[in-house]
Amino acid sequence: MTTIASRLQAVKARISVAATAAGRAPGEITLVAVSKTFPPQAVAEAYAAGQSAFGENYAQEGIDKIVALSRLPLERHVASPEGPRLRPLEWHYIGPIQSNKTRPIAENFDWVHGIDRPKIAERLSASRPDNMPALQVCIQVNVSGEASKSGVAPDSVFDLALTIKRLPHLRLRGLMAIPEPTPDAALRHSHFRMLREIQHDLLHRGVALDTLSMGMSDDLEAAIAEGATLVRVGRAIFGERGAG
Ligand SMILES: *Cc1c(COP(=O)(O)O)cnc(C)c1O
Repeated sequence: MTTIASRLQAVKARISVAATAAGRAPGEITLVAVSKTFPPQAVAEAYAAGQSAFGENYAQEGIDKIVALSRLPLERHVASPEGPRLRPLEWHYIGPIQSNKTRPIAENFDWVHGIDRPKIAERLSASRPDNMPALQVCIQVNVSGEASKSGVAPDSVFDLALTIKRLPHLRLRGLMAIPEPTPDAALRHSHFRMLREIQHDLLHRGVALDTLSMGMSDDLEAAIAEGATLVRVGRAIFGERGAG
């Protein structure tokens, strides 16, 4: 087994243990493998080990990889009752979104996690090609208060959700957060819990969302305990970034 394959297996085991400890089914949690800074070959290796969803932070780097992967001789076929069929790759844009990059993002990715203002949502919807399915999106919420500059304030989430729901080429799936790292376990849990509480609040106000995108290599257990349905994991799968 390759290093990436065995690390992937270890991450899946962590997800499974954390889910079970929280009384949840491991299958409720989607793993997005964050491949930023790693070469297409690393993605191909993870794909061969069964991983289908990948996350990228930089538009051009991500698109270069999407193109490269579409050309690599991947083991693309999986067994199904109707015979072998394609197992597609799914690409998640998880980085900050500059307004001059909305078109390439909308044309190449399946998901965008970090929407934090109406203008970005409107531009993504306007640039999404008609022949592609709606872009799946999450609103990024600032759950760390003054310690963080990214994401919308919790009390602005509802208005942004209504804006996004009116846009024809976006499908609002959920909320995303990147809490500031903290050694304080209770604080870590409370940041993740805040995202779930906002999801509940939106439900009471008529906006039902099925995705909580939270948890990374160092804190996925806390995120899963607090209700994460999608974790974004890089280093625990691909190794330290910039380590050669
Ligand atoms: C880099 C990144 C991740 C993955 O972080 P790791 O610590 O490598 O697991 C997850 N989410 C976002 C938004 C990131 O930028």
